[in-house]
Amino acid sequence: MEPIVVVGGGLAAARTTETLRAEGYEGDLVVVAGEPQAPYERPPLSKDYLRGEAGRDALFPLDADWYADHGVDLRTSTTATALDVGARSVTTAPGGSLRYSRLVLATGSRVRRLDVPGAGSPGVHHLRLVSDADGLADALGQDGPVVVVGDGWIGMEVAASARQLGRDVTVVGRGPHPLGMLGEEAASIFAGVHADHGVRLLHGRTVTEVLGSGRATGVRLDDGTELEAATVVVGIGVTPEVGLASGAGIEVLPGDAGGGVVVDGTLRTSAPDVWAAGDIAAVPSRRYDRLLRFEHWATADETGKHVARSVLGSGEAYDVLPYFFSDQFDLGMEAKGITEGEVVVSGSAADRECVLFWVDGGRVQGAMGIDVWDRMDDAEELIRRPGTVERSELERFVS
Ligand code: FAD
Ligand code: NAP
Repeated sequence: MEPIVVVGGGLAAARTTETLRAEGYEGDLVVVAGEPQAPYERPPLSKDYLRGEAGRDALFPLDADWYADHGVDLRTSTTATALDVGARSVTTAPGGSLRYSRLVLATGSRVRRLDVPGAGSPGVHHLRLVSDADGLADALGQDGPVVVVGDGWIGMEVAASARQLGRDVTVVGRGPHPLGMLGEEAASIFAGVHADHGVRLLHGRTVTEVLGSGRATGVRLDDGTELEAATVVVGIGVTPEVGLASGAGIEVLPGDAGGGVVVDGTLRTSAPDVWAAGDIAAVPSRRYDRLLRFEHWATADETGKHVARSVLGSGEAYDVLPYFFSDQFDLGMEAKGITEGEVVVSGSAADRECVLFWVDGGRVQGAMGIDVWDRMDDAEELIRRPGTVERSELERFVS
């Protein structure tokens, strides 16, 4: 029997591997991971790891010895460069060719790069890899102002960390408010926390040039304003790493339809014996009756576990609601479901202790707890309720 092969070096790959062994698979198992280290998780890279409050060990869901102890052939610094689903083989560099009996793709996302003059200069940082975080942590340890380009999750979390490290921080966002995907009510809570801590948030602006000869010294905005910067951090989104799948003729969604590898409820792709998990997987959702691709930690965690069971023959359909979290300064947030629809607030947004619900056609689509903990199971019950939910019930949710 050829091995099960897992391609990826993030949480989805780690959870898949761990669960295959936990579920009793004793056959050959190979993990092909492009980066130099064992599969690791990324949330600390913009938070405590970036600030130097957590060490490297905190990044690894499975410690370095786990793979050898469990008979797993972990090939780090090895990239899968091509896939032949007919021959059931993966080409790797270095290494040549690797046959598989079953294959799991967990290749995650790659950062979108700023495409303006000067964007390649030293002093301009993107953040996806632990090596990116190490470089950025060094830069944040120096003096001088920080400009963050993009006011999504990376932008806002890095801005908070940089400010906590004592840096002067300006965030340049192109929309009307930060965290555009959440809508104004939720965004204003995050914006308020940042303003309280002295982060300058600019809206409706784009960066047209990174200034400086040989090294970034600032940015120019579309209205001509120049901002001085010793460090520029870019967080303008990611694209799913679907090249292996599309190159092999596996069905992927076009970028304007959300991108990602199309899978069925068991996370199986359109090719025989090839599955996908984590950021790349566009998964059919029973609750939302459409394909959902969710670029968050919990999706990598849950789909990683689920895909392993599917590979071993469980025919169960994936039915976990999206979940995500963030920490910025002293504000903690966790959310379930999707953030689409009209927002109903329960509790006090002004005191930053509330639950926000997204409601569409009377049905609860998603919920976000702002410093309200242990209510996500109750919120999930509302999200899954087949009928409509009275607004008054939502308003009473936080008493
Ligand atoms: P990834 O983590 O992207 O891992 C994919 C891995 O596969 C990479 O190591 C890559 O090098 C490797 N790879 C790719 N192609 C190949 C190939 N051809 N051959 C071999 N290896 C390959 N989510 C939250 O919910 N909460 C948070 O607070 C949060 N914070 C985050 C902070 C940062 C800085 C970042 C970058 C992300 C954060 N996220 C957070 C998002 C979350 O980390 C991602 O959704 C998650 O990492 C996805 O896991 P994954 O395993 O699918 O992919
Ligand atoms: P993101 O959260 O998707 O936000 C991207 C931001 O960049 C948006 O504000 C977007 O604006 C803006 N943008 C896009 N293209 C731009 C351009 N050309 N110029 C200026 N701004 C541009 O992505 P991210 O912050 O880069 O994070 C990367 C990934 O990691 C995402 O998948 C994210 O979900 C994940 N992540 C999650 C967490 C968390 O859950 N706590 C933390 C960190 C990272 P518009 O809104 O106008 O498009």
